[in-house]
Amino acid sequence: MHILVVEDERKIAEALKQGLEAEGYRVTTAASGEDGYFCLTTGEYDLMLLDLMLPGRDGLEILSTIRVKGITTPILVLTGRDTVEDRVRGLDSGADDYLVKPFAFPELLARIRLLLRRGPAEQQHLLKFDDLEIDLLTHKAHRDSQLLDLTVKEFELLAYLMRQQGHVISREMLAQNAWQVRERSTPLDNVIDVNIARLRRKVDGPFERKLIRTLRGVGFCLGDVDHG
Ligand code: CA
Repeated sequence: MHILVVEDERKIAEALKQGLEAEGYRVTTAASGEDGYFCLTTGEYDLMLLDLMLPGRDGLEILSTIRVKGITTPILVLTGRDTVEDRVRGLDSGADDYLVKPFAFPELLARIRLLLRRGPAEQQHLLKFDDLEIDLLTHKAHRDSQLLDLTVKEFELLAYLMRQQGHVISREMLAQNAWQVRERSTPLDNVIDVNIARLRRKVDGPFERKLIRTLRGVGFCLGDVDHG
């Protein structure tokens, strides 16, 4: 069993590696979200341990990107941020389980065993919102059972909006998560706007109930903004 550990604090990463190897797991470590994402998309892993507080793109962003790309590897999130909101956001973004630091190593092992027994979640590749449904594996999107004819980019955009349903999404978040570009620029903003407009024509155009909202000067939201 091969585990990918994404953790920027070297001491913690080393301790995890040693502890897990002592239990017979094969362990690869990555010190940033980008490295972790690269490893996951180029190697074969049975499980990923993901720290949320990372330099550059944080763990939640990496998590969303991984799931939007249809990667179903079980992911156990490690974090020091012990708030209900972060926990819910982590699970919404596609984490399978969640452990708050500091944790007892035997508890980590128990959670890992559980996730490995469960394997990639079968249902995880299906995302639903209202009468909209997308399949991350087949890259097909339906609304009210009608197939939507989306480009690859429109599909990725929609997948991201569905992962973040109820949350306000800025152009910056779209640039990072759907285009994997860290710096915003006017040309990219224009590309984002054009893609959102096309997506909206396809997803909302033929239907009375509009799902994609524009929040002037702020960004976009799928459904109503969830203030809870
Ligand atoms: Ca960290």
